Parts: sequence; structure tokens; C-alpha cells
Amino acid sequence: MSQCSLCKGKLKEDKINHVVDIDDLIIIIKKVPAEVCKQCGEYYLDHKIAQKVEEIVDNVKNNKAEVIIINFYDRVA
Ligand SMILES: [Zn+2]
Repeated sequence: MSQCSLCKGKLKEDKINHVVDIDDLIIIIKKVPAEVCKQCGEYYLDHKIAQKVEEIVDNVKNNKAEVIIINFYDRVA
């Protein structure tokens, strides 16, 4: 994938902060590798990365905290 499906802008590999909002819980996963649109800022996660993100969310979503901040690389290392 090298073109944004929203604006047709060019995608560039970068690290993004992925935010997941579940009810009252906000999970912020930092430094997730993604393809980021230079034009509109939309980002696309690789299938494997998206799966890993889901695993991370599953692992922490029963936490009683309101906001959880995770560094992606702490979880994949
Ligand atoms: Zn775009």
C-alpha cells in the first residue's frame, strides 16, 4: 500500500500513537509502526501490527485504570 485511500496522498512509514477508546478506558499505544499519509495524517496498520495491537488491548482492557499508556516496543520485544 502506498496511497492513502481517503485522499490519495503518499504514504510514508512512520511511528504513530494509536489510541483505543473502550467505554471509560483509553488505551494509548505509542510508537506503533504504520504507514502514514503525508497529506491528511490518516494511518494504516500492517495486518501483523494490527493483530499485535489487538493482543495488547486484550491484555490490558480489564485494568481498572482510566488511561493506559503503552510503548509498542515494550510489548513486542
Ligand atoms: Zn490521506
